[in-house]
Amino acid sequence: MSQSTFLQNGELVTILIKKKEAPFISLRVVLLVTYVIIGVIPLLLMANTILHSMQEYFVEERKQELLSQANVIAGQLASNDFFFNQENQESLEEMVLQTGQDEDFRVLILDASAMVVYDTGYQEVGKTYLLPEVLEALEKRDVAREQEDGTVYAAASIVGSSSQHDGIVLIADSLQDVRITVGNIGNKAYFMLAVLLVAVILIMVVISRLFTEPLKRIIRVIQKMAEGHLEQRIVVTNRTHNEIVDLALSCNQMADQLEKVESSRQQFVSNVSHELKTPLSSIKVLSESILLQEDVPKEMYVEFLHDINSEIDRMTAIINDLLTLVKLDQKEIPLNFVETDLNHMMEDIIKRMTPLAAAKQIQMQYIKEKDVSAEVDEMKMTLAISNLVDNAVKYTPEGGTVTVVLDADHQNAFMTVTDTGIGIPESEVNRIFERFYRVDKTRDRETGGTGLGLSITHGTVMMHNGSIKVNSKEEEGTSIQVRIPLHQNVGA
Ligand code: ADP
Repeated sequence: MSQSTFLQNGELVTILIKKKEAPFISLRVVLLVTYVIIGVIPLLLMANTILHSMQEYFVEERKQELLSQANVIAGQLASNDFFFNQENQESLEEMVLQTGQDEDFRVLILDASAMVVYDTGYQEVGKTYLLPEVLEALEKRDVAREQEDGTVYAAASIVGSSSQHDGIVLIADSLQDVRITVGNIGNKAYFMLAVLLVAVILIMVVISRLFTEPLKRIIRVIQKMAEGHLEQRIVVTNRTHNEIVDLALSCNQMADQLEKVESSRQQFVSNVSHELKTPLSSIKVLSESILLQEDVPKEMYVEFLHDINSEIDRMTAIINDLLTLVKLDQKEIPLNFVETDLNHMMEDIIKRMTPLAAAKQIQMQYIKEKDVSAEVDEMKMTLAISNLVDNAVKYTPEGGTVTVVLDADHQNAFMTVTDTGIGIPESEVNRIFERFYRVDKTRDRETGGTGLGLSITHGTVMMHNGSIKVNSKEEEGTSIQVRIPLHQNVGA
């Protein structure tokens, strides 16, 4: 929800705009999910791949082992002429049975027509086994292959003395034990992963709390500031330094600055009220004293109206200066920088000020060191320099001198106004650019100053990216130098 308030026809209008709020996703959740994605899922995939490869390796090993066993048996049967020597048959079958029992697998002996002639399991004798492995072995390609039901068949051909196929040795073995072994290893690995996951989640919860708790504290304080409690500060207790501490310190700095702005705003409003109140009170006193008296002579009317008029002039001057300052503060209104002949500008200023100086028998001097032209907003810069010359005349006693110098180097123009006036106490020099600041309140009321002239000059010079230097000695005089760059790099 956002709120905008403004004045319309003198009424305060508040508009509430309902905005669709973005869903809140806590940093803690983001951290956890990120860890699970980049930390745990790859581990799971890795464990899975390793287990799979391990199973493949064991199965392959077993196939090779069974095949070599089948070959050994086939070799023994061939060399002892199993199919054609009845005498050897029984002892050979016993040997095969023994091997089958020792190794815990089933051995079948098939003849050249794939019929089972001996089976350590005794069930299949007399049956014909047309398994692909048997057919391949009959073609002298000994093979071992895993079946869908998890058994392995290893078939080796029995090649007789005449290089003829006498038969096949077929070993059948279950892979159950491999499965159980790999399964056990897998269970342990997954258990370890689960423990790791829980441990990591716990650690992440603690770590993310370490990050988010201070952030939450900062947010709470900022929210209070947003509600207007600018005195709020974030308490920084950390002995170490990190980005969050920096954030807290920056927020505190921002709050200091906001408080300063707020207090200077209040000061400004109170100054304006005070400045306007003084002439208003005078007007009231003057007008009342005429109203309350009977038979007021005409001369008195004229005199009082004259006084009222000059008080109104004073108020108008204050308001005009305030308006000028407000305009300078509105930075979005750009200055109208135009290449200007500063010599010409200065001569105009001096010309306008000379009668004022002459009235006080002040000698006005203008020294042009160089022809200077610079990019300035001529109207605003004229006002800024006029304020300086006006002050020099105002604060210089009769018979004094005011000297204005125009000079430049490769990059800057320098405009200096020097007087032989009352000077400014050292302790006050830094304050004369503040709004409504006057060194001597009573005297300045007599001179008719508003206390805003130098603020306007300072604001203007800043907008021209320049600077102001003040040199002053009490009872000796003041010299104020304005420096502005010859060229404004707009947009730089
Ligand atoms: P004001 O309208 O009162 O002159 P400014 O802002 O122009 O206000 O100046 C602020 C104060 O600085 C003046 O009130 C005066 O006390 C002091 N000041 C400015 N210029 C001079 C100067 N040339 N010599 C002595 N004091 C000065």
